Amino acid sequence: MCSGIAVSYAASGLGTFTLLEYGTDEQRRKFLPDITSGKKLAAFGLTEADAGSDAGGIKTTATPTSGGYIINGTKQFITNGGDAEVYTVIALTAKEKGPRGASAFIVEKDTPGFTFGRKEKKLGIRASSTRELVFEDCFIPAENIIGKEGMGFILTMKLLDRSRPGLGAQAVGLAQGALEAAVDYAKKRVQFGHPIFAQQAVQQMLAEMAMQVEAARALVYATARMIDAGVKDFTKESAMCKVFASDVAMRVTTDAMQVFGGVGYMRDYPIEKMFRDAKITQIYEGANQVLRNAIAFELRKKKAFKG
Ligand SMILES: Cc1cc2nc3c(=O)[nH]c(=O)nc-3n(C[C@H](O)[C@H](O)[C@H](O)COP(=O)(O)OP(=O)(O)OC[C@H]3O[C@@H](n4cnc5c(N)ncnc54)[C@H](O)[C@@H]3O)c2cc1C
Repeated sequence: MCSGIAVSYAASGLGTFTLLEYGTDEQRRKFLPDITSGKKLAAFGLTEADAGSDAGGIKTTATPTSGGYIINGTKQFITNGGDAEVYTVIALTAKEKGPRGASAFIVEKDTPGFTFGRKEKKLGIRASSTRELVFEDCFIPAENIIGKEGMGFILTMKLLDRSRPGLGAQAVGLAQGALEAAVDYAKKRVQFGHPIFAQQAVQQMLAEMAMQVEAARALVYATARMIDAGVKDFTKESAMCKVFASDVAMRVTTDAMQVFGGVGYMRDYPIEKMFRDAKITQIYEGANQVLRNAIAFELRKKKAFKG
């Protein structure tokens, strides 16, 4: 399994979701068939150099003008940047209102005034491109706004609530792959006259890894069931999926490399790639520290627990 490929499709989903849920029929008819048939990739542009965790600090503007908007600014670290044909971009239509003045726009590749930065050189998920989106007096027709002016951040929060369990699933897949590889290797690798699986120290590590993977999978499935059942507020559970499963992916890939010993560190074996790919799951779609803050915020909001 390659997380870089997986994340390209996941990011295409990110770039499509607001259009699917809040786009007009005309927008859906125009953009969705090519995305859903796989002819075109989509992308989602929120992050900027000075606005990562603090996404409310974005500076990219979409100034209203006759027949549309003029976008100026630069988005950073955008997955599928340059490869995608359709971009959902968050920009300020009323910068004096801060985050409440943000709106979501569809921007097509090859629109005049829209260019890309260089492809970033990354630790992992290298199959997916990560680039800047650069807007210089880029005119967007009025019909390309998604929802209404000022809805940009509300749409973004709803989008991320929906996408974070998917990121959790990505992390579970990585961890499961690393666990399976480690179990296979431990059965084959002979030291001191026995497979290393016979060592209780190795068994303890593998058992711990297996428990962590199952717990992460159960949380992701439980949250997916909540969403399918139509529960409206799943911000907390969604953040929990992302944080818990990504921490599991990092821990399990690290321990799997330990089970492999020296060869695990080499590119000939799959573990070093899984280990490199796992790290980003703790960072993107909300760094884990920030999402722990969000989980605590949701806990505080709720009425007292019943005894
Ligand atoms: C490979 C890759 C792909 C990406 N793809 C996309 C994409 O497609 N679209 C998009 O819009 N963005 C994308 N991003 C951006 C990503 O979502 C951000 O990198 C992420 O939200 C963290 O922001 P930052 O990098 O600015 O870190 P910072 O916000 O600078 O945070 C740095 C550290 O400080 C901690 N921190 C910050 N604030 C707090 C706080 N209040 N409490 C506790 N700790 C805090 C963070 O947890 C982190 O550990 C991508 C990033 C990468 C690396």
